[in-house]
Order: sequence, then structure tokens, then C-alpha cells
Amino acid sequence: MRKILFISDLHLQASEPRITEIFLQFLSGPALEAEALYILGDFFEAWIGDDDLSSYNLIIINAIHQATKKGLPIYFMHGNRDFLIGKNFARRTGISLLPDPTVIELFGVRTLLMHGDSLCTFDIKHQKARRFTLNPCCQWLALRLPLWVRRRGGQWLRGKSRRRLHHTENYIMDVNPEAVDKVMQSYQAQQLIHGHTHRPAIHNLAHGKRIVLGSWHQAGSVLICTDQGNCELKSL
Ligand code: MN
Repeated sequence: MRKILFISDLHLQASEPRITEIFLQFLSGPALEAEALYILGDFFEAWIGDDDLSSYNLIIINAIHQATKKGLPIYFMHGNRDFLIGKNFARRTGISLLPDPTVIELFGVRTLLMHGDSLCTFDIKHQKARRFTLNPCCQWLALRLPLWVRRRGGQWLRGKSRRRLHHTENYIMDVNPEAVDKVMQSYQAQQLIHGHTHRPAIHNLAHGKRIVLGSWHQAGSVLICTDQGNCELKSL
């Protein structure tokens, strides 16, 4: 049976050795049986530039490189936390970077892939921040700051985001159904796969499906789609 796998929101970081281990096991085992692996953003809790070659980052980079060397195609879309992943990371690991959104033919089904944060249009603060983080000039400038400044900045932003999660109402953090309809129609997609909201589910919509990937906070989570035409969310 042919299989294609999707993951997102692993939020990998050195302070989460258990989740890191689940990912490394997954990548060196079950993932290799698939035809392709798609990573749809927030793979890292934070990424401050491809020049940050900490021992933790090198472990992850090498593990991905091993998998692509063994012939597993890995496609990577940025999330709102690892938007600074760049060409050097792609070259070291052998992954292919994908723009957000990207349309693929998933075993004959026209499928739209997104990280998902652009669909959360009720979250005006996030949409404003997004305009800065995705601006090539802002990115260019940010990457010219010394590594220690970027590290501090990253910590500050993560603290800010944690405090905000406690104070923001639930519906604001979810996707706007109208934004979903609009983007699916404009890409003529039969299904949408995204992450970001940490609300894993397969929703049946009037004109297709919306599949939400799970975060890796408690356990690993992977979407397995087969050439039999079905997609299933599984815990690792
Ligand atoms: Mn996200």
C-alpha cells in the first residue's frame, strides 16, 4: 500500500527530549516506509537562523539528512515559529521548501496544504505580526543581528506568545470557516490539510474535507493517507 505522511506542530526544542526521541524514532523507522513526508510548519519551537548550529539542531539536521539520503522525499512548509528556516537548512537536510499554500495531487485528490495561521483571521494581532515576520526585508534584517541577540529575541517572543494563549478566547485561535471556504474555492481544492490550531480532526465540509493535524505536546501525531483513498490521524 502506498502511503504519504503529514506532520506539523512538533515544536521541537532541546528541553523536550521525549518528543524529540519520538520524532527521531518515527523518522528512522515508520516514516521510511512512506512515499513522502510533509512537514507543515512549527516543526521547531523556534528557529533563529540557519547559522544556529547548536548540538541539538545538528542532531535534528543529521536525522533528517539520513532520511532523505535513504530516499524519503521530505517537503517542508514554514510555520509561524520557524519562518526563518532557509536555503542552508534545506541544503544540509535534503528537504524541499514549500510555499504556503501549496496544492498537491494526493492520490488523485486535489489537496491544499497550509500551515493554517493565515486562516485564523479572527486573530487580528497575529495577522499583524505575520505581516512583519513574512516580510523579506524584516527577515533579511533580523538575520543580520548577532546570534545572541536573536536568541534573546526568540525567548522574549515565546514568553509573549505563552502569556497571550492564556488570555485569548478560544474561537479567536481557531480558523475562520469563511476564510477556509474562500481559499479552498480559489484553489479549487477538494481537501485542505493544515496544522497550527492544535485541534486534530477530520471535518467533512459541504465541498470537501478539512483535515487538521495534531500537535506533538503530549505524544506524536501523524496523518497517514493511502492510495486506497483514506486519511487517518494516528498517535505515536
Ligand atoms: Mn503555528
